[in-house]
Amino acid sequence: MDANIVVMGMESVGKSALTVRLLTRRFIGEYGDIESIYSHSFIVDGRAVTLNIWDSHYFQDFSADSSLFEKKVRWADGFVLVYSICDRASFNTVSRLIQTIKSTKDCLSADKVPIVIVGNKRDLHHRRTVTSEEGRLLALNTDCQFYEVSAAENYHSVLMVFHGLVDRLKDAKLTTKKPLRLKGIVKSMSAVFARRRTESF
Ligand code: GDP
Ligand code: MG
Repeated sequence: MDANIVVMGMESVGKSALTVRLLTRRFIGEYGDIESIYSHSFIVDGRAVTLNIWDSHYFQDFSADSSLFEKKVRWADGFVLVYSICDRASFNTVSRLIQTIKSTKDCLSADKVPIVIVGNKRDLHHRRTVTSEEGRLLALNTDCQFYEVSAAENYHSVLMVFHGLVDRLKDAKLTTKKPLRLKGIVKSMSAVFARRRTESF
């Protein structure tokens, strides 16, 4: 199975930390601001799974840059939406992202879009402003999966996030979809960057 995943959420919630943790099992601490697509293969229930994971930038107003946002959403088979348990605004953003993703995806499949909600920075529980209950409730109301993790402290919980997403992808019967070749990804990435460059001048 081959699937495209986008990791989204406000800046500094730990999107890169989470992605790098999955890929390298390590926590580095500082990740800079590089936007990348990584390819990662692992075995789930005896089957090889390859995920193309787009560690994406956050745009303050994602509706304003809707064509780039749409491009990401259409590219993706599944979504990892990250907030920090210490940052209420980032939690609200995840809630908005879910609505926007569901309305951007085809109406017929909108209910089944594989989305995993991740409350990160669980190690900072003394600074918590979003309760686990709120995360669980949001997931329940939007038919998403929910995990609380610490990319800083723990590899296993991060692995569970992606395993959970793979389960959802199977449920969504996306396994028969023709995989997007790397060439296609590079092409869509350069289209994104070309677009961004022209916009900033
Ligand atoms: P991004 O902007 O969403 O990609 O966030 P980063 O992955 O760059 O992380 C932002 C900051 O939060 C960095 O200083 C990380 O070291 C820190 N960070 C990420 N995950 C965790 C976590 O689970 N616990 C703690 N304490 N810090 C984290
Ligand atoms: Mg990042």
